[in-house]
Amino acid sequence: MPWQGNICRKPLAGAFLLIGMCTGTAALAVPVPDDAAQLLARAESVRTSNHPEFVSILDRLDQQIASLSLEQQWHVRYLDAWQIAFDGNYTKAGVALKAIAEQSPYAPFRLRATATLINILGFGHRYEDGFAQLDQLDNLLTKVSDKEARFYAQGEAAQFLIIAGQYDLAGEYAEQMFQNVPPGKSACKATYMKLHALFHASTDRVEQPQFQQGIDVCVQSGESLFANALRSDLAGLDIELGQSENAIKLLQAHYAEVEAYHYPALMEFFNILLAKSYLKQGDLTRARQFALATIANAVENEFSEPLIQAYDILYQLETKQGNARAALAYHEKFMASDKGYLNDVSARALAYQTVKQKLLANKLQVDTLNKQNEILQLQRALDHKAVETGRLYIALLLTVLASIAFWLYRLKRSQLRFMRLAQQDSLTGIYSRQHFVDAAELTLRQAAKSTRSACLLLMDLDHFKLVNDTYGHSIGDAVLKRTVAECQAHLLPRDLFGRLGGEEFAILLPECGPALAREKAELIRLAIAATPADGETRDVSISASFGVASTDRSGYELRQLMIDADNALYRAKRDGRNRVVYGEIGDVSAEPKADTGRHVVNNDLGNMPPHTGIVS
Ligand code: GH3
Ligand code: MG
Ligand code: MG
Repeated sequence: MPWQGNICRKPLAGAFLLIGMCTGTAALAVPVPDDAAQLLARAESVRTSNHPEFVSILDRLDQQIASLSLEQQWHVRYLDAWQIAFDGNYTKAGVALKAIAEQSPYAPFRLRATATLINILGFGHRYEDGFAQLDQLDNLLTKVSDKEARFYAQGEAAQFLIIAGQYDLAGEYAEQMFQNVPPGKSACKATYMKLHALFHASTDRVEQPQFQQGIDVCVQSGESLFANALRSDLAGLDIELGQSENAIKLLQAHYAEVEAYHYPALMEFFNILLAKSYLKQGDLTRARQFALATIANAVENEFSEPLIQAYDILYQLETKQGNARAALAYHEKFMASDKGYLNDVSARALAYQTVKQKLLANKLQVDTLNKQNEILQLQRALDHKAVETGRLYIALLLTVLASIAFWLYRLKRSQLRFMRLAQQDSLTGIYSRQHFVDAAELTLRQAAKSTRSACLLLMDLDHFKLVNDTYGHSIGDAVLKRTVAECQAHLLPRDLFGRLGGEEFAILLPECGPALAREKAELIRLAIAATPADGETRDVSISASFGVASTDRSGYELRQLMIDADNALYRAKRDGRNRVVYGEIGDVSAEPKADTGRHVVNNDLGNMPPHTGIVS
């Protein structure tokens, strides 16, 4: 497998940490500014190109940290952590970076810290932690719009995934980088990541001209390390396509350049690719030379693919030359490094699967929580609906109440109407019997208090039956109305006038003595008896008999007044009708009353006892 970046250790950790550090244009010697913002900008620009200057600027910034803005303080904190990682103190750097990733209120610093953390986790073969951080990085990428920070983070993610053997995923990040190269930055790193990931995912996916184009991009932007890393991949492809000659040409042309980097990760690949190419060419001497160079250049205790292949080539060469002992020794080394390497490969795959499962579990948990949330929201919506339903219910109740109130009002109105009807005599419009009794009792009570006299007149039309029989019932009614009108013409507003039944009437005259009462009765009698000049009853002659009782004699009890007036009326009838009789106590004879009739006082006069016709 061609060049990989996971096999270098301190003192070349920085090269791994930021692969472009050895290349690119060196920062010009610019006078160091005083302003904190300018200092930070300068520190960023020389971070990898002029590391000593970077360290000195960082020292200055650390000294004036208290005077910086909060955002600048977090920026310095991030650069401090990056510097610790660059120095190779990964444990300390990990703690510092994690704190920034978790605590900084500024998402771009959280993103950058997470990306650097992923870098050192990959380098330390801590794949599981790396994958977990990658998930955080994904979250942060959705929040950060700063192009530089995004580009850096995507690059670290792609590199970690390449180290971890997840080339397809790495390709996705590389593609994102490629699509969004920040202004002023070259597309070299993005191109490298993309082609490198594609090549490792499958050699069919990239063609030689694509590599050549990528190499040109990197050469043009002065990033020779990336250009050479791409050459290493291209050489690998050449060998696979049986063009080992091309591979040798390419690798040899840039070998010295790569050696000058003192970057073992890339050197290892140049060496092993040359060893393989020469072996294919049958140049066993050179094959051995470059295989040995691969081993010499390898990092101690790290098992890489070039190392395994180098032992394998040496084993084959020794076997060919009949050196059984040497062959066995290389074979043992081959087996050991292969096992170590495979262990790491399976550790990566396992880590990837473990984190994937964990993320899936988390996602499921989040989904469950979301579902619960949805249910809660539905519940709330239902509660809201319940409130709405409650409101509707209340509105309905109010409507029902309103209609009940309306019906009650109508009922009351009709009750009042019925009450009025009950109080009124329907034919004549004067008081009904019951209402007259009630009103009369009230008036008499008041009269009793003031001890003023009051008189009761009972009036009964004479031979009224004959009127009906002669002229018909309707003329009878008209006569009744005419009679009432004649009476009313002689009454005062305070006088009470009621129809007791049939052709029988009662008049209560408050503040009226017996003489005046008799006089009034007489006037009424005459008015009734007078033949009307016009109207439908002009042909009908009628007369009425009157019985008068006074409180002076009978007291203020209506019952007694009625009895006394009735007795007087009885006498008026008996004496020939059409007359007024003033009732006197004991003025009633015991003679039969069959022909006169007892019209007025029957057994249903209000609360009066049944009248026997005999005053006791
Ligand atoms: P008397 O002189 O003895 O009082 O004779 P009367 O015919 O007046 O007495 P009676 O009690 O025998 O007759 C009363 C009549 O009054 C009987 C009834 O036909 C009539 N009458 C009662 N109420 C009404 C009514 O509302 N309209 C009409 N047209 N007639 C009524
Ligand atoms: Mg009569
Ligand atoms: Mg009568």
